[in-house]
Amino acid sequence: MKNLIKKARKLAKPFRVTDDGFRLQDIKPDDTLEFTSEDKPRAKEALATGVDLLAELQDMLYAQDRWAVLLMFQAMDAAGKDGAIKHVMSGINPQGCQVYSFKAPSAEDLDHDFLWRCIKCLPERGRIGIFNRSYYEETLVVRVHRELLEKQKLPPELVTKDIWKERFQDIRSFERYLTRNGVAICKFFLHVSNKEQKKRFLERIQEPEKNWKFSANDAKERGHWDDYMEAYEDMIQNTATKEAPWYVVPADNKWFTRVVVAAAVIEALSSLDLHYPKVSKAKLKELAVAKRALNAGR
Ligand code: ATP
Ligand code: MG
Repeated sequence: MKNLIKKARKLAKPFRVTDDGFRLQDIKPDDTLEFTSEDKPRAKEALATGVDLLAELQDMLYAQDRWAVLLMFQAMDAAGKDGAIKHVMSGINPQGCQVYSFKAPSAEDLDHDFLWRCIKCLPERGRIGIFNRSYYEETLVVRVHRELLEKQKLPPELVTKDIWKERFQDIRSFERYLTRNGVAICKFFLHVSNKEQKKRFLERIQEPEKNWKFSANDAKERGHWDDYMEAYEDMIQNTATKEAPWYVVPADNKWFTRVVVAAAVIEALSSLDLHYPKVSKAKLKELAVAKRALNAGR
């Protein structure tokens, strides 16, 4: 197990961002480190091994019931969030895992502060909570489309040019609060290229079983690509911290994305010093009594 954890750490490290020195151009969407597409079967094997290890770690997380883990996924459309979540979490006990998708906010959501709807979905101790999109949309789509901010019914004097800086501050404080309360946080930006997104959209149009995934609006958003990239870079620079790191994961090759995401989740879990609860003397006595009774009876 130790050896696998070491390997996972090494794989995730180049993509881990913990401070404001980050530049988006430093991570290439088609990067696959030293792996080539011939290594694809090996990567699939590594993913399967990683998934087994994750299941073991999650079992301890659940039994220990002290830490909660919050994984957040952000990306442009068709970057592979859903697939990454599905594959990486495939071996995990569903009882210990909760997934929430955050889409356009409802009227009730808009009647509250911007963290409200996500706070309601935070994972319990012992659980892994996954946010498929999150409050980070409040610094992405809402920043690119200012009209969305107007719908938020904020008192006008609170909407100043500093609003994004203030949101970053609030998010940093919120995440510090969570980590101080035993919620380990790990954030993913699946970084797909403009070219690869176009290819995936065309596949969604051409292949009948993928038609349902295509929305004309997603394609329209491509027109704002540069604004989104700027917003992502600023967001990561302002919210990457040691306690709540971002992983900027190359997303042009799904097989590679998934292994890196698995590695990062392993890293997050393994840094929590998880162990099964120690059995007390009283409990050991209880077990011995029960064993004797079972053996004596039928
Ligand atoms: P996905 O695109 O994540 O795979 P989907 O296509 O099923 O999922 P959509 O119906 O497209 O889901 O909902 C996601 C949309 O909701 C995105 O365009 C996203 O920008 C938008 N959204 C999420 N959070 C917010 C928010 N706080 N304010 C405005 N729009 C938001
Ligand atoms: Mg969508």
